[in-house]
Parts: sequence; structure tokens; C-alpha cells
Amino acid sequence: SGGVVASVARVLKEADGVRRLEVRANADTPEDAARARRFGAQGIGLCRTEHMFLGERRKLVEDMILAPDDAARDRALDALLPLQRRDFAGILEAMDGLPVTIRLLDPPLHEFLPDRTDLAVRVAAAGARGERPDPHDAELLDAVNRMHEENPMLGLRGVRLGLVVPGLVAMQVRAVAEAVVERTVAGGSPLAEIMVPLVGAVEELRLARAEVERVLAEVSEASGVPVTCPVGTMIELPRAALTAGRIAEEAEFFSFGTNDLTQTTWGFSRDDVEAEFFSAYLDKGVFPVSPFETLDREGVGRLIGIAVAEGRTARPGLKIGVCGEHGGDPDSVRFFHDAGLDYVSCSPFRVPVARLEAGRAVSAGAGGSDSR
Ligand code: PEP
Ligand code: MG
Repeated sequence: SGGVVASVARVLKEADGVRRLEVRANADTPEDAARARRFGAQGIGLCRTEHMFLGERRKLVEDMILAPDDAARDRALDALLPLQRRDFAGILEAMDGLPVTIRLLDPPLHEFLPDRTDLAVRVAAAGARGERPDPHDAELLDAVNRMHEENPMLGLRGVRLGLVVPGLVAMQVRAVAEAVVERTVAGGSPLAEIMVPLVGAVEELRLARAEVERVLAEVSEASGVPVTCPVGTMIELPRAALTAGRIAEEAEFFSFGTNDLTQTTWGFSRDDVEAEFFSAYLDKGVFPVSPFETLDREGVGRLIGIAVAEGRTARPGLKIGVCGEHGGDPDSVRFFHDAGLDYVSCSPFRVPVARLEAGRAVSAGAGGSDSR
């Protein structure tokens, strides 16, 4: 009823008045960004650009990754650039000056490459008919076989892809920078942040960042509009957490990716939590609740504590957030408040819960009794 809605709004307003954690949302489209704002998000904490490469664009990603030569790869990148520019301009417009953290491409390759079994069957079937296989199929199969990984989630993802595919980082950063110019010229004050995924060593971030800065300078020069974007990194591998002091030398912000950090700390596949053994494990009492749902304080939480302390020692005032699923889980939000994070970012629908919980965390810390 209207009365319930009004009292929810009042409680949320109270929480907003006291909470110290900023609440952002994870969104990849202007529509989701607009929804996030309606739920009270103060920015986009994670824009997963790989979600923009699905559907009819998947073919372009395939062409880019499997390109037989530089010219073919550049053609694929050139085709992607205007599409990405439009994606980013739309989200920046929807957020109207609030921060938008755009993450460089982080696809597990198996989600983008053609299925090698299908290809192999097609090539073999042609052979069985005594025909020569379609040369395109044969070539593609060869390329896909060379790229094949038994563990794609531990493979060519995130910054690793950006460092091995020439021109990929530059294309995405150019699209961000040109979208910023477009919005600025239109009278807006767009605030885009560029985030590098799956970093495990400061050297990776240093290489990626040099490319980012080079392109930002190029677009600024060409457009006459100075484009500055803070460059930061995900902390989602144990090694990143343990070397956070070094990584902070190159990062203007950190964002914990607790999905991958949980996967790599526990060694449980985040994609197989539906597997039979995993629920059996829940019954064994190894953990009271799945660590993919509620943050594991003893393991993952300790890594987060180390990274916050080392990151801020190296760079006082370093902005730190979280954008994994835990960013919208009430118990985990409490932990992030206590750990001294600046913001949590979660799915738009969980934003109200995160706002509420961030407010409750303050009252609990101020000596109020925790009734739960
Ligand atoms: C994470 O790993 O927690 C994260 C936010 O990134 P993704 O879920 O896209 O891997
Ligand atoms: Mg991740």
C-alpha cells in the first residue's frame, strides 16, 4: 500500500542520512543505469563491457581475437569502436555527472569463441563425404584449437587479453574518451573511470595504464577537450591483495571483485555452485553459508583487510570499493563498512537493501545493539 511505500522511503532516507558507505550499482546499459538511479545509486561501480559484446557483436569479437593478421584485427576493432562509443555515451548521459566505472573487456574466451566440437564435426563430416572442408571452417578450427584452454576462467581473461591483443585496450579507451568529449560538448560533466580487471601484478597494471594514458592524451589533443579519467584496478586475485601496496603505486582506486576473489581463494569454481557436491558440502558444515553469497571473513575478508591497509599506506586516501555479488548482501555490507571501504556496488535491485544496511552498520558501530 501507499503507506508501506512511504515508510520504506522514510527508513531509506534515514539510512542515507547516516551511512558512510556510498552505494553504487552494477549496470551495462543506459536502461539499467536509469533504473539504478531510481533506486538511489550514486554512480555505476561496475560496467561490464563484455556484456556489450554479445548478440550480433559476438562475431566481431571472434574476428578480433582470431584475426589471421593485423589488418583483419584492425578492421574488427574499427567496427567495434563506434558501437562502444555509443554504449558509453548512453550510460554517461543516463548517469548525468555521477561516476561511471567502465571495466576493460573481461570475457572468459569460451563464451566468445565458436564451439570447437561443432567445427570439428563439420570438418570431419566434409571429409567423410569425400569433400574438402570449407576452408573457413578448417582455418577457424585451427585457430580455435590454438587458443583452446582447459580452464578458461584461469586463462586469457581481463588484463591478460588486453595485453596480448594489440589495439584492444586502445579501442575501448578511445571509445570512453570520445564519449566523454561528446557528453562534454553537449554541456554535461561526464565522469568516467577506467578499471583494469584480473590484475595480479603491478607490472600488468603499469603496461595497461601506459596505453590508457597514451590514448586519453591523443583524444584530448585531437578534440581540444581535456579528458581525464581516473585509472584503477579490480582486486580479485589473492596475489593482487597480497601485493596491494605495489599495485596502489599505479592505481587511483581499487574495487574488490569478490566473485573471483572467493573462487581463487577457496579454489571452488564460481560457475559450479549448482553442482551436487557443493550443496552436499553446505550440509557438511564446512561453511555455514556459501562463501559466494556471504563474504567469508576469515579468508577472503583477511585478504581484503590486507589490501585496504597496504593500499592506503602506499597511497593515502586511496578510494576503495567492492563490485562483486557481496556488495548487495546485508552481512557483507556490514563487513565492508567495518573494513573502511568507500563504496559498495551491487545490482540495481539490491541498491535499497545496501543503502539500508550501510546505515544500520553505522548505528551498530556506534554502540547500538545488533538485534539480529
Ligand atoms: C568479481 O569477480 O567479483 C567481479 C565483480 O567481476 P566479474 O563477476 O565480472 O568476474
Ligand atoms: Mg571478476
